[in-house]
Amino acid sequence: MASETDTIFGKILRKEIPTKFIYEDDLCVAFNDIEPQAPVHVIIIPKKTISRLATAEEADEQIMGRLVIVAKKLAAQLGLGDGYRLVLNDGPKGGQTVYHLHMHLLGGRQLGWPPG
Ligand code: AMP
Repeated sequence: MASETDTIFGKILRKEIPTKFIYEDDLCVAFNDIEPQAPVHVIIIPKKTISRLATAEEADEQIMGRLVIVAKKLAAQLGLGDGYRLVLNDGPKGGQTVYHLHMHLLGGRQLGWPPG
């Protein structure tokens, strides 16, 4: 059985898949999505291996807060002053495909609602 760290994002963190980080701190990193759904589509992930939001713990509160604060800082840096969207897909019905918890920062075009 594949290890919990054996995801694409685990490989990116371990630098087994070369990926340019547009942001990095002690708790998280951010990089551009390989298949962008908007002019700005950034993925922000914790360095800690958390497979999905459903398995995050109370002790992960600082990490989860950091993801949101980093997202809003990147949004400002990337010129998204008119607005943007943060998405966190959880589990099969949430559309999660990579089981290393991550947040999407989407912007640069008018986003529709409801999402698919
Ligand atoms: P989700 O469906 O919420 O699990 O999102 C996974 C996201 O990871 C998708 O938007 C993919 O396009 C993106 N993705 C998959 N592989 C890579 C990669 N090597 N580098 C950057 N983004 C990736």
